[in-house]
Amino acid sequence: MSFGDILGQSHAVSLLKSALASGRLSGAYLFSGPPGVGKRFAARQLAKALNCEKGEEEACDLCLSCRKMDACNHPDLLWIEPREKAVQISIEAIRELKREVALRPWEGKRRVVVFPEVERATEEAQNAFLKILEETPEGSLLLLTSVKREGILPTVLSRCKELRFGPIAREVIQQFLEKQKGIDSKEASLLATLCHGSLGKALAMSEEDFLEKRVDLLSQFLGRAFRVDEEREFFGEKEELRLALDLLISWYRDLWVIQEGSSQELLFHRDRLADLKMESSRWPQDSLEAALSELLEAQDHLDHHVNVKLLLFLLSRRMKTLQGK
Ligand SMILES: [Zn+2]
Repeated sequence: MSFGDILGQSHAVSLLKSALASGRLSGAYLFSGPPGVGKRFAARQLAKALNCEKGEEEACDLCLSCRKMDACNHPDLLWIEPREKAVQISIEAIRELKREVALRPWEGKRRVVVFPEVERATEEAQNAFLKILEETPEGSLLLLTSVKREGILPTVLSRCKELRFGPIAREVIQQFLEKQKGIDSKEASLLATLCHGSLGKALAMSEEDFLEKRVDLLSQFLGRAFRVDEEREFFGEKEELRLALDLLISWYRDLWVIQEGSSQELLFHRDRLADLKMESSRWPQDSLEAALSELLEAQDHLDHHVNVKLLLFLLSRRMKTLQGK
């Protein structure tokens, strides 16, 4: 694995490669962007390239340093992660890191410290980390990643060179799923559509048999979300709701395609043709397009809407009206 294996982030990768080639890497970088687009992976590849015994721009993957990096047991690649996902990084952990960073690399050429999702650290911990950023020794490189950069202290932000990681193109994800994971093209196409540019999400969905479960998920969602006033806690998690909405949108789009009599080649859920036909026949002519707009609008509001329950309630009312119920 090397820079060439970082999918769909050519801008960030070319900046890193040219900084490496000219020996002008900054002391600290922030890789920012949505989850599952390769930020941590890129951090590892950079650490590998810097420490590869061959000393070329691309890591060789074969030398002892590269193999240790891949196996996560290289002493000069440190990850600052809380032991449990819900726990924040403690200030003690940052103080310990400060002592650690001041040391020379143990066996590599450059000590690389990766601080994933730095915005999850408390303000106190971020302030302590700022001291490390201000006095980073030459032998060390700090790599921060962030999903929500608004959560990072401006003083921390200003000390890092930021590289943006965007959503990965649908075709790139589909090809990866087919070629590297052996997923058949129909399934790969659906996963690539539903993951919205996040390879991590596509892989997680493929492991959870998401596509197998989708019809159940849909009926559960329709059955429960549309009685949301009774189901108080059902969709507390925005991520869960986002996924359900993605799925609903692809499903309703298919219902609409069928009602319009367009080519079945266009369907996302081609393998569920019978279900689709049955459901589309239950919708009055012309109202599916409006239902789709409602869903798209709900998805759009999700990021801004504080009250998820109200959003779902209004959506369910509109959908029922459209279906003539
Ligand atoms: Zn190597």
